[in-house]
Amino acid sequence: MSRPEIRVSRLHKSFGDNHVLRGIDLEIGQGEVVCVIGPSGSGKSTLLRCVNLLEGPTEGQVFVGGIELTDPDVDIDAARRRIGMVFQQFNLFPHLTVTENLTLPQRRVLRRGKAEAAKVAARNLERVGLAEKADAYPASLSGGQQQRVAIARALAMGPEVMLFDEPTSALDPELVGDVLAVMRMLADEGMTMMVVTHEMTFAREVADRVVFMDGGVIVEDGTPERVIGAPRHERTRHFLSRLL
Ligand code: ADP
Ligand code: MG
Repeated sequence: MSRPEIRVSRLHKSFGDNHVLRGIDLEIGQGEVVCVIGPSGSGKSTLLRCVNLLEGPTEGQVFVGGIELTDPDVDIDAARRRIGMVFQQFNLFPHLTVTENLTLPQRRVLRRGKAEAAKVAARNLERVGLAEKADAYPASLSGGQQQRVAIARALAMGPEVMLFDEPTSALDPELVGDVLAVMRMLADEGMTMMVVTHEMTFAREVADRVVFMDGGVIVEDGTPERVIGAPRHERTRHFLSRLL
């Protein structure tokens, strides 16, 4: 593997007595796409949220692009700018147009000027196929379009890695494909991606590796052919059998 873009080492996370992450070790190389699968409550979202320190780990280390985010002296805001995150809920501002949703964080967080922010917004709306919706309000868009706007908003910040937490789980089935197509494009462009998903076709076709989590540990980590096609552990087989 090239220099790991994301490295998680002996990561633990507890909420009170609930020991959710129980020693996670994971490396994701530059340009690698890793899908994280596993049953509800296994700690997938918590892991993703620890990678950009939305949750502070109880123990262990997180590195992104060679910078240790868990170092108490790190400039966490600067470090987090390298990481784009897309959630199941799109979290767009309803009172702002699509373009304004993309320019606001660029201006506030990156201190970009108005013209430059607008240019970057337009370019990224084009990338997700929504240039014609620049002046629309989120409520007038389908869920799939809103999620593509949320992806464009994250991309407009120029992230080095993208984290996706079940980006298509809230969508009507007919809208899932367009969002996955955008994610596939990003993967093809060489973006480093960590994707929590139940979309096994996407995982098989796009992921370089699939990680199966259960009970706060990584049970299996390998190519999609290996983990989905020939799982070694009973827990993985059981999980996959319920999806199909
Ligand atoms: P998954 O995404 O795999 O469904 P989560 O990471 O969301 O799992 O949750 C794993 C466990 O952590 C669950 O028991 C959940 O209740 C708990 N948990 C997650 N976030 C919090 C939080 N902010 N406060 C307390 N408990 C939490
Ligand atoms: Mg989750």
